[in-house]
Amino acid sequence: MSNFNRRTFLSSAAAASAALAAPVFAAPENPCQQPKKWDAEHNLVVVGSGGAGLAVAVSAAQNGLKDIVVLEKMPFIGGNTMISGGAFNTVDSKRQPKQKIKDSPELHAEQTLKGGDGRGNPDLVRKMTANSEAALNWLEEMGVEFKPNVYQVYGALYPRSHDAVHALGSDYIKVLSAQCEKLGIKILTQSHVTRVVREQPLSGKVLGVEFTDADGKPHAWKAKVAVVVCAGGFGANPKMRAKYDPRMLNLTTTNLPGVSMGDMIAPMCDIGADTVGMDHIQCNPGCPPGRKQRIVLHMHVERLLMVGPDAKRFVAEDQRRDVIRDAILNLPGQTGYSIIDADGYAVLNPGHVAGLKKGLETGDAWTANSIEELAQKMKLDPKALKATVDKYNAGVDKKMDEFGKNPRNLNRIQKPPFWAGFSGMSVHHTMGGVRINTDCQVLDRYDQVIPNLYAVGEVTGGIHGSNRLGGNAICDIFTFGRLTGMLLAKKA
Ligand SMILES: Cc1cc2nc3c(=O)[nH]c(=O)nc-3n(C[C@H](O)[C@H](O)[C@H](O)COP(=O)(O)OP(=O)(O)OC[C@H]3O[C@@H](n4cnc5c(N)ncnc54)[C@H](O)[C@@H]3O)c2cc1C
Repeated sequence: MSNFNRRTFLSSAAAASAALAAPVFAAPENPCQQPKKWDAEHNLVVVGSGGAGLAVAVSAAQNGLKDIVVLEKMPFIGGNTMISGGAFNTVDSKRQPKQKIKDSPELHAEQTLKGGDGRGNPDLVRKMTANSEAALNWLEEMGVEFKPNVYQVYGALYPRSHDAVHALGSDYIKVLSAQCEKLGIKILTQSHVTRVVREQPLSGKVLGVEFTDADGKPHAWKAKVAVVVCAGGFGANPKMRAKYDPRMLNLTTTNLPGVSMGDMIAPMCDIGADTVGMDHIQCNPGCPPGRKQRIVLHMHVERLLMVGPDAKRFVAEDQRRDVIRDAILNLPGQTGYSIIDADGYAVLNPGHVAGLKKGLETGDAWTANSIEELAQKMKLDPKALKATVDKYNAGVDKKMDEFGKNPRNLNRIQKPPFWAGFSGMSVHHTMGGVRINTDCQVLDRYDQVIPNLYAVGEVTGGIHGSNRLGGNAICDIFTFGRLTGMLLAKKA
């Protein structure tokens, strides 16, 4: 099992990305051919060791299922979950009442559906919001520590976002991988699944998977209870994203290279799986094309100010992610700037502080003791930026923002030092994927369940609709991961 030193992890990610950059899209001669022989048989085969995969495996084992294996193509575990901000949206009956925030699973569901333009499946959304607090409690019981207050993460639309104390997805992966070790769950890295094997081309149950190991040697493993595909999205695959939305071809991505290649979508479609929402692709503030150091100042929308190259605001910073994406893509040079003050800096998580400090060296971020000096460093008009900040602060005082930012998210930008960074648009999340029912069983094009095939996490579609709310992906993977593990233990 891999350890979690972030530097080791990122350097092995970079090394692995070169080898794995090419997706496995060559069509197999006969996608439904049975393997000549099965090398091994296990109860549960999970594909992918991100948050979704580890949650399924741990929950199934805790509920009594034995003999679980997780196959991971990369040399390390954790997927994008590992590098995520880790913000987790859920109603919280402990924290929210203390902050006088009224909330309910119904309101969370309503906002999720509305935020995705009504394109999410209401049954999936309601199941997620009704079970997300139990998932948060489950993670806490296993040792994930959350901060005492909730907030509204960028794109979340309501204050129900939870940050793990060290505030990166690695908190979840550490705790879940320790559970895997304790429960005897085997995780095999450098095991790249290439095919899902079904009894008949488009009928019968799923029998197992084929994968190649670190030496390129092929294996076929049977799964007695189920195959659960938790292989993440396709945000790091420019060709695949451009197939569904040509605007996405040349953008940078926030995803780990080599991880989110979408390479389990075709193998599932080969045995009949349906897909939904493949052209719903989310962008977040990140590197403009050609730059490498991502600056993350946008997570706390209540501390964030965004301006364009004319040093003027162009959007409410607490808007939906797709609204901000389109606003930034419409700016000259398709790049804006995020600005925070010392109070905004105080709520940054340690990973984002480290990125910011690096950005000061690479020329992707700036800091100064006055707005005018900051503007000079950013090569913006100092007078124009000062006027923008003054106007914003006047709106804060009146609790009336010219772009309609919610009064609860209005705080003055006034305390030096001030910080700024580029906010280009980077592909962040793919809302589409295989279609599932509320038990996470994969459905075929005739709405029939493909027996013994399950999918959880970003590889699925139909939950987040056209626009995922910030903080709802971590909610999705852990809520459905825990439930699916429980269900599979019962099924066995
Ligand atoms: C920088 C960043 C920040 C984010 N911050 C947040 C946040 O704060 N809140 C939030 O809600 N969401 C956030 N997201 C989104 C969220 O992190 C992801 O949607 C979620 O973690 C996906 O989890 P997953 O388990 O489905 O996929 P991943 O965590 O990506 O795991 C998938 C795993 O499957 C493996 N795999 C893929 N194909 C194969 C194959 N063929 N064979 C074997 N293994 C395979 C991959 O290598 C990977 O390890 C963020 C995303 C990024 C990139």
